[in-house]
Order: sequence, then structure tokens, then C-alpha cells
Amino acid sequence: MTRAPQTVFDLAGKRIFVAGHRGMVGSALVRRLASENCEIITAGREALDLRRQADVEQWMAAQKPDVVVVAAATVGGILANDTRPVDFLYDNLVIETNLIESSRRVGVKKLLFLGSSCIYPRLAPQPMREDALLTGTLEPTNQWYAVAKISGIMLCRAYRKQYGLDYISAMPTNLYGFWDNFDLQSSHVIAALLAKAHAIKTKGGGELLVWGSGTPRREFLYADDLADALVFLMRNYSGEEHVNVGVGDDVTIRELAELIVRVVGIDPKLRFDFSMPDGTPRKLLDSGRLFGLGWRPKTSLEDGLRKTYAWYLDHAAATAD
Ligand code: GDP
Repeated sequence: MTRAPQTVFDLAGKRIFVAGHRGMVGSALVRRLASENCEIITAGREALDLRRQADVEQWMAAQKPDVVVVAAATVGGILANDTRPVDFLYDNLVIETNLIESSRRVGVKKLLFLGSSCIYPRLAPQPMREDALLTGTLEPTNQWYAVAKISGIMLCRAYRKQYGLDYISAMPTNLYGFWDNFDLQSSHVIAALLAKAHAIKTKGGGELLVWGSGTPRREFLYADDLADALVFLMRNYSGEEHVNVGVGDDVTIRELAELIVRVVGIDPKLRFDFSMPDGTPRKLLDSGRLFGLGWRPKTSLEDGLRKTYAWYLDHAAATAD
């Protein structure tokens, strides 16, 4: 049975700092918050380097937000994670530490931290429940990112315990949408396959190269649906445990590739590159807790892919080659 959500935090009239507002998640959240009666504050990378502790403290003291969303992170796909371990571990540790501690110092009332489904143990029982965190060995290709993000979740718990602050964490599944990174070396699978499929269409032929065996299973959430879930959680959730945010089902990478070529409007041969890593065999969240609170995603994978491809055509396709 679905419980009616009980508002625990009112966003109306609040100053909300969306850290990372140029990224896929942050920009979706800014779009979503525009329809709430709140004030959104942001800081571009040129104005504030979130890795510099003194700068972050100074900026936060001047801005005094009521709410902070930690949507800033160094992120990337399986190859980037595996080859730039310092960026994924160091950047994420300092960004989250600086933002969370400076939030405490300036009296931020509500903070939302973002984890990721890839930080659960590699072989966690599927679908993965919230209590699977820290029960097993991490997927080696993204262990650096995972350790940093697990630390962020633990920091929120620690600030709740020691200072009684309402700092919460959400755990989104694999994401895609506007402002995704379409660079083939560092992107996630949806952006990569959309860009590669589009290049085949433009050239008028060719095979679609898919990394790995095509058999891993992944769950995909449209970034605007995530933004809606984040607003829902800020309003209705106050608890120590992070909350999974997914759609409830997954597809194989082969099925995803087949859907993407249909969306792009081509019919190429798929070629699987077995020299590239598969990563974790399956990554499906159990989002029962969030669904039980009354939230559901609105966008099907096909619709989300169509919207993302349309955005790509408008924004990124010209610079992709
Ligand atoms: P992951 O969910 O952390 O493994 O991140 P990715 O989105 O990068 O990869 C998901 C799955 O898609 C992995 O099994 C990849 O090997 C596979 N994949 C297939 N083609 C591609 C591609 O062109 N780029 C990326 N990043 N992954 C791909």
C-alpha cells in the first residue's frame, strides 16, 4: 500500500545551493526547482573551485544557503574510472568534505548528498536493497569513485549522529539525459552509443561498436525523473539511511544498443568488443522504499532516449567528430 507522503521539510522561500549545476543532475535539478517557490543559487567552476576548502568556506559564509544539494562530482564511465583513479577518489572526497563541513558551519538546515548504484558491492544480491551497502567487495573498475561516495554517505550519517543535522543521501541508478558527457573515452554507455550511432547515420554506414559482451544488465533513469525524486526526498524524507532511486527494471547492453539504433533511425550490425571491460554483471536497484513513500518515475527508457537524442542533435552533435 502506498503511504501518503508526509512533508517534513518545506522548500518554499528557501535559498537552495545546487552545487554542480552545469552537470547532468545539477542542471536537471535547477530545471525542476524552477517550479518551486524557492531561490536557487549556483557557482560556476570559474567562480568557485569546490576542491579548495578555504574558498568553499568563504563562499558558503557569504551566501548562507538554507539547503545544499551535492550534485557536484567527478564522474565518468567504466574506462575513465579505471584509468584516472586520483581524479575519482581525491576530487570526490574533497568536494563532498568541503561542502558538508561548510554547510554545518553556516547552519545549512537540509543537505542532500548523491551516491550512485555503482558503489554497492560488485556481487550484491539483485535487486540491490539499501542495506547491501558495505557488505562485500567493490567492482574494481570503479572502486575509487565508490570509496569516495561511500565516504560521503557516511559523512551525512556522522553529521546526523554528532550534530543532529538533517543531512540525507539518495542513491541513483545509472543516469542519462541532457548535458550528459558524450566524449567516447569518458562517457557512460548511453551517451557513447547515441554518439556512435549518430556518427554512423551521418556517415551513411558502418558497424556499431559495443564494448564488452553485451550481456551485462543495467537499469537507466532519466535525469529529469531523478530531479523530481530529489525534490520529493528533500521534502518528504529525513532518515539516516540513503534511499535508492531507480525505475525498477533493467535491460542488457545488447537490448539497449538495439533500442538506441532504433531511436537514432539506423539498422547497423552490432559488433561487440570483448577487449573492453563488462564491469559488474548486473546493477538493478530495489527502489521499493521510495516507491512505498509514493514516488514513481514518469519517463520510459525509449521516451528518455528520444528526448536525449533530440537534445544531442541540438547541442552536441556538431562538435562530436
Ligand atoms: P558502468 O555501469 O559503471 O559499468 O558504466 P558504463 O555506463 O560506462 O558501462 C555500462 C556497460 O556498458 C559496461 O558493460 C560497458 O562495457 C558497456 N558499454 C558498451 N559500449 C560502451 C561504450 O561505448 N561506452 C561505455 N562507457 N560503455 C559501454
